[in-house]
Amino acid sequence: MKITLDEVAKKISDAEKILVTAHINPDGDAIGSTLAMLQILRTMNKKVFAYIDDKLPKNFVTLPFAEEIQRPQENEKISADLLIILDTAPDRIGKVLEITDAPILNIDHHITNKNEENFLYVEATAAATCEIIFHLTKILGANITEDIAICLYTGLATDTGFFNYSNTKPATFRAAAELVECGVKPNLIAENVEKRTAREVQVTSAALQTAKLFYDGKVVGMFIDENLAKKTDTTEGLIDLIRVIDSVDVAFLLTCKGEKICRVSMRSKTVDVSKIAQKLGGGGHVRAAGCTLEKSFDDAKNILIRAIGEFMVETKKISPAEFEEDKETLLADFEN
Ligand code: AMP
Ligand code: MN
Ligand code: MN
Repeated sequence: MKITLDEVAKKISDAEKILVTAHINPDGDAIGSTLAMLQILRTMNKKVFAYIDDKLPKNFVTLPFAEEIQRPQENEKISADLLIILDTAPDRIGKVLEITDAPILNIDHHITNKNEENFLYVEATAAATCEIIFHLTKILGANITEDIAICLYTGLATDTGFFNYSNTKPATFRAAAELVECGVKPNLIAENVEKRTAREVQVTSAALQTAKLFYDGKVVGMFIDENLAKKTDTTEGLIDLIRVIDSVDVAFLLTCKGEKICRVSMRSKTVDVSKIAQKLGGGGHVRAAGCTLEKSFDDAKNILIRAIGEFMVETKKISPAEFEEDKETLLADFEN
């Protein structure tokens, strides 16, 4: 059932013990919104626990209270009044779904979230779930401490590519400005998010060597196979290196996450990549979407390239002839 933000605030006010969670493969918005929520609810004297069923990327473990995020244990059970799911529908929270029978309150900004069997507040115009939480603090009358502001700003900054993507709206800047007034230092957040080890920078160069263009240069892909994946803790930002290519509409990153588990990230300039992601069992936004393919790396690569090509023929972004040609070109060999 879709509810308003006022109703979200009421549900929160009525609950005493609350679990907060967000999606697996957590990003800055998932972790930032979880940690902001944890702190906001504590200022309201709620008993709150934060769970995410995944390892936190190292760039986010230094966020305030990140050490409080737990992974659910085998057969763990917790009674609570409310389970707040942030930045995803319940299908991407792993085992957190099994640890409690509490009613679900789902707060998200993904247009693909159709979770109407639970209490759902979805605002697709919000740049980040953190932007929604920012507005929620006003309704709740909660004070935004510096630590809360740091978490919310991190989510806003990471989901907007530091205020560069098309989801960046006046409201995003207004929220960001107020968070800076609360004590956030934008340079320190950027430094923290962008920090890489020497080896990871080296991997960036190796990753770029794998990049190939498809469909007459309108699609570009980067391939982090098992070997390359072992050398880096994060693939954050890699896709941004190739999506800038002038001929490209759709950029994707295929990452090996384990045996027959491949993560797909997609970005676009005009194509609705959320539709392609949904066809492959994932979701996301018009210009940024993703999915997980339970296939070998080679199979995943073929399935993904075909799915992108087929959708681009359907939406007249490439011609059937360009699709049929099915040629891949290394960046160094591409001429346009
Ligand atoms: P990413 O490329 O991981 O930054 O993801 C881009 C967008 O797509 C984010 O908003 C994700 O939350 C969303 N997304 C990624 N993977 C999935 C998935 N398997 N199911 C639904 N949404 C996804
Ligand atoms: Mn997210
Ligand atoms: Mn988000």
